[in-house]
Amino acid sequence: MSEPLIVDSKSARRQFIQCQQCRKSSEHNHKLFKCTGCDVTLYCSRECQRKHWPSHKTRCRINQEQKSLFKEYDKRILEKATSSGADSPAPLLTTQLTDELRAFASKFRPLVFQAAFNALDIANHCFAWQQLAFYVILERIPHVDPASRPWSRFRVLEAIALPYMAMRMMKQWDNGMAETVIEQTLAQQREHLSVEGTIGTITIMIGARCDAEPKGVAIHDTLWMAFGEHSQGAMVIEDKWRDTFVDTVERMCGRSPEAQASTAGAGVEAVRIGA
Ligand SMILES: [Zn+2]
Ligand SMILES: [Zn+2]
Repeated sequence: MSEPLIVDSKSARRQFIQCQQCRKSSEHNHKLFKCTGCDVTLYCSRECQRKHWPSHKTRCRINQEQKSLFKEYDKRILEKATSSGADSPAPLLTTQLTDELRAFASKFRPLVFQAAFNALDIANHCFAWQQLAFYVILERIPHVDPASRPWSRFRVLEAIALPYMAMRMMKQWDNGMAETVIEQTLAQQREHLSVEGTIGTITIMIGARCDAEPKGVAIHDTLWMAFGEHSQGAMVIEDKWRDTFVDTVERMCGRSPEAQASTAGAGVEAVRIGA
């Protein structure tokens, strides 16, 4: 096994930002670019983008649909804010929350992978990624400093291994989201397995609740992380992986873990299944 990874180092992050087709990372100065359709999925070359299109097509459409849906939500949020007076604080828009979630996912990628590797207990159940997703629930810190870094505006409320079967039964996802995620997951897993050196693909869902109208919408960012030879440094067994995950996020965001103890765990009952 290679050296354990320093999860908050730049090189670790680069190692985990990969072309969605060939898994080449930006570590060795491969410049990655985003799909212009959805502005989300990363590629190292036009050729990889072309090869990936048959499977990306659905995801690209979903990403775009989501974008316009969120714009619609934003409109309602802004309308409501205008009617409630000028001196109320600026509301949190769904598009902003989405961007912040993506910033979080990007900043904490190696750390999230490490937590997922342990949550799914892949060291002992090497095919666990075929049945379980890693689900992270974040809480956006209220009244954040607008000048703060977008990725630093969350704390981890819960992190669980979530069986795909349970995902299907979760009431708040009955809009077909579970099926979409599962379908995408199967496609990603198939593709990644054809890349040399890949052992499997972990599905990671990072969600946060949006308190504005429509009430209680939870926004998710889903990522698929292939692992294998290239991620050996992050495949470290940790018994207290959840504490490490929560505390490292707090530390990297410049907050002290002790100060959060009183609020942690609030409001997670609804999703505590399959843990
Ligand atoms: Zn590529
Ligand atoms: Zn796209």
